[in-house]
Amino acid sequence: MGDTIFGKIIRREIPADIVYETNDVLAFRDLNPQAPVHVLFIPKRAIATLNDATAADAELIGKLVLAAADYAKREGFDKDGYRTVINCNEHGGQTVFHLHVHLLAGRRMTWPPG
Ligand code: C5P
Repeated sequence: MGDTIFGKIIRREIPADIVYETNDVLAFRDLNPQAPVHVLFIPKRAIATLNDATAADAELIGKLVLAAADYAKREGFDKDGYRTVINCNEHGGQTVFHLHVHLLAGRRMTWPPG
């Protein structure tokens, strides 16, 4: 699997504003925030897209999503609510091919998304 900019962030080769970390998951602020709070949660073991995930990745993806929820609770976003997003491939708007969960909070989200 090809490396991405997120691999460089995991290896600390480029800086990022890291806000949450476990053995399996890293989270950092998005450089181009789409909400007052916009954090990206990535697995340390890269999976390119959600399409590439298999049953063998179920535990890791579970940890990834639960990390976002844990952070949201820790920061107090759980009461008002927040949005989590996984973009997949071109029509989904994916630009970095290392699976990631966007956590957006701090404003009321609209639906449908653009
Ligand atoms: O879902 P998608 O692949 O489009 O999301 C990638 C996200 O990674 C974008 O929101 C972009 O702003 C963010 N990004 C970042 N830091 C980088 C490169 C991309 O926060 N160095």
